[in-house]
Amino acid sequence: MVVEIDSKSGFCFGVVNAIKVAESELTLSDELYCLGDIVHNDEEVARIKTLGLKTISHSQLEEHKGKKVLIRAHGEPPETYRKAQELGIKIVDASCPVVLRLQTKVQEGSKRMNEIGGLVVIFGKNNHAEVIGLMGQANGNAILVSKIEDIEKIDFSKPIELFSQTTQSPEEYERIAGEIKLRMQKALNTESVNFKKYNSICGQVANRKRELVTFAQNNDIILFVSGLNSSNGKMLYEVCKNINSHSYFITNAFDLQPEWFNTNSKVGVCGATSTPKWLMDEVAKRAMDIGVELSKKQNG
Ligand code: SF4
Repeated sequence: MVVEIDSKSGFCFGVVNAIKVAESELTLSDELYCLGDIVHNDEEVARIKTLGLKTISHSQLEEHKGKKVLIRAHGEPPETYRKAQELGIKIVDASCPVVLRLQTKVQEGSKRMNEIGGLVVIFGKNNHAEVIGLMGQANGNAILVSKIEDIEKIDFSKPIELFSQTTQSPEEYERIAGEIKLRMQKALNTESVNFKKYNSICGQVANRKRELVTFAQNNDIILFVSGLNSSNGKMLYEVCKNINSHSYFITNAFDLQPEWFNTNSKVGVCGATSTPKWLMDEVAKRAMDIGVELSKKQNG
């Protein structure tokens, strides 16, 4: 059995940066709180917890007056910064620069649309931290579309600026944008409509999708390692599954089942932008151990 780890999988630079910021703060003080899990991966959250990082929810901010609170890569709405200031909380801001740029664009788009009676539409996952941050930039006036059916909420007679959460599927975004434009043209009975779509899907996700197609084609079995609550984990796993039906979604090395493999299997280990490299190493090692056990059995 041959086992290969996808060299392109693993943390994106936004997550690498947030973890570095947390680790560096924890060398200076042993008290640091993170607003929500620092990354959508329980194994990595548990590792950083051992260094002293404690996860708190937004409703617990009040209990942490005067403390240091880390903002993770997903970013936060303006309301969080306002509240932190009121409570004398020191913010350690590890928001990803790509998310911060998108927040600014949504804010500007919202201002433009407010002036002309238009709408800001955001394609994203309901209740996802990044989406809450983006909706906050539009003062809650944006329309959230999580799936194509949700576009029914839109008034197509109005001007529209469309944005996407950074980790959404580029193809689905195109499909939704195409349908919105078409409906606007029908509603206004003209080809020329006031519609603008921003290319706001992160390059780290879009490129990974293309690379994973080749990786899934080149292996007999795909072990996709991700936290259950990772958006891009679900999306990238579907990419693998569509190419290679022997793709398995796993959260750690204990999920591996010996019956998935045979001694000649070519096994590929890959993951989401929130999957740590050490976790993929553990999965690869377990797969290799299974390969050795199968060979022993086969050779009597
Ligand atoms: S996926 Fe892209 S935008 Fe999101 S945190 Fe990572 S680098 Fe930043």
